Amino acid sequence: MSKVKVAINGYGTIGKRVADAILLQDDMEVIGVSKTKPDYIAKYALDSGFSLYVPEGSEEKFEEKGLKVSGSIKEMIEKADIVVDATPNKIGAKNKDLYEKMGVKAIFQGGEKHEVAGFSFNAYINYDAARGRQYVRVVSCNTTGLLRSLNVINELFKIKEAFAVIVRRAADPADTKSGIINAIEPTIPIPSHHGPDVKTVLDIPIETMAVKVPTTLMHVHTIRIKTEKEPNLKDLLETIEEDYKRIMLVSKDLGITSTSQIIELARDRGRKRYDLFEVILWEDSISIIDNTIYFYQAVHQEAIVVPENIDAIRAMLEIADKDESIKKTDSSLGIGSLKI
Ligand code: NAD
Repeated sequence: MSKVKVAINGYGTIGKRVADAILLQDDMEVIGVSKTKPDYIAKYALDSGFSLYVPEGSEEKFEEKGLKVSGSIKEMIEKADIVVDATPNKIGAKNKDLYEKMGVKAIFQGGEKHEVAGFSFNAYINYDAARGRQYVRVVSCNTTGLLRSLNVINELFKIKEAFAVIVRRAADPADTKSGIINAIEPTIPIPSHHGPDVKTVLDIPIETMAVKVPTTLMHVHTIRIKTEKEPNLKDLLETIEEDYKRIMLVSKDLGITSTSQIIELARDRGRKRYDLFEVILWEDSISIIDNTIYFYQAVHQEAIVVPENIDAIRAMLEIADKDESIKKTDSSLGIGSLKI
């Protein structure tokens, strides 16, 4: 079987991670990545073996700096079966016209509105509904983290009502434009966009609030869920361990008291860029009081959506069923391997 040809439009935080993840798959390949600036990241893309495509008319700017250009972004898209659009927020919506004109499938990221693709994705929840679709949006990092844990709880005990407070990292580590802030910034108005975003994938009653804090490593969620059925801790933990590798259980008891130790664990165990594709759930934070579950979890914003992008490609091209795709993605990315 020939490999699916993937173009990465926007080789930034998310784009470069998705490109690297594709290199680890046996059923897809990166036919090119795009850059708008002739900088060290463009050089890194070339050194990583990717063909570089740039906006029409800007080839010279790149060539002047010794960066070999393979063509325009349009030419890259012409060669692709599917585009992973990982351009900054709202640019994806503008790019949609081009994808439509060129008749190419496209995956948008969480910075775009649900309406841009008309379908928001999480591999555990709606892989089958994404099969054959022309456009899919992989929801944001926080929404992906929420969906993974809420989905298991909903399947086991049926969610009656959920509430989450999202403690958001102010900026990504390499982002010197928007962070790091010396402040705590509440997200107004309430609810924050995360609850409605969860509902684009999973139909549950949920409200969310959010505050931005001065850190770049990860987000943390504090979650409270009321359930219809009586929750059972043993069932919850066993189900996560057996069936949901993308949820990684950690404990304070083993010294993981903050996001810093989670990142250190990923560094010690050799994850490239300390990427954590899993949502990290503190097992010993889970408390059940009456029919209500409380817990904390952490989300590595730069990496958590990578496996979902890979699965979305397989679903949209209909080259694997849900279980096969998730299994392939998990084993190629080493998901579940950090478990201690
Ligand atoms: P980024 O700024 O790190 O990378 C975007 C890349 O796109 C850059 O290389 C930029 O040069 C390039 N670009 C800009 N305009 C372009 C254009 N017109 N055509 C082609 N390339 C262009 O952004 P990011 O953090 O990777 O975010 C990308 C998307 O992923 C956004 O929708 C964002 O909301 C979403 N997302 C980001 C994170 C995160 O924490 N960084 C997490 C989940 C989802």
